[in-house]
Amino acid sequence: MGKKLGFFIPELWRHIFKKPATVDYPFEKLKVPKGFRGLPVLNTELCIVCKACERDCPAEAIEIRTILEEEKKFQMTIHNDRCVHCGQCADVCPTNAMTLNNEFELSEPSRWNMKFRYAYTRQLRKKSDRNVDEKDKEIL
Ligand code: SF4
Ligand code: SF4
Repeated sequence: MGKKLGFFIPELWRHIFKKPATVDYPFEKLKVPKGFRGLPVLNTELCIVCKACERDCPAEAIEIRTILEEEKKFQMTIHNDRCVHCGQCADVCPTNAMTLNNEFELSEPSRWNMKFRYAYTRQLRKKSDRNVDEKDKEIL
């Protein structure tokens, strides 16, 4: 027993002055790394409704509906209960309207709380966007 204790004391001594390897979550939170893929969020002021995000989402988590065609009103629903955080929607977005934030606490008591809806007016494509993805011109 004494021999075993002798073995542990230097080890204990070494660790007593070390910084803890864990954080006191949820009171303290670590910073997420650059490029972290949290929740997809839409900036309605940049969206030209090209529907590339809806088309390319592998989880079918993005749904765009026309509300009023004449007034160019649309509704986007992001089904975060289906999202796999691949970042494809942000990658294909030609105007950077879609981005993934740093949120990682995603649990909800109901999956219906995880559906984010945006109702908005389609933005016009800016000149500076034109060389980003020529294919979108056909859609617009
Ligand atoms: S991050 Fe991936 S799964 Fe989630 S909405 Fe975007 S494309 Fe779909
Ligand atoms: S890809 Fe971007 S611009 Fe196109 S519909 Fe999606 S969010 Fe809007």
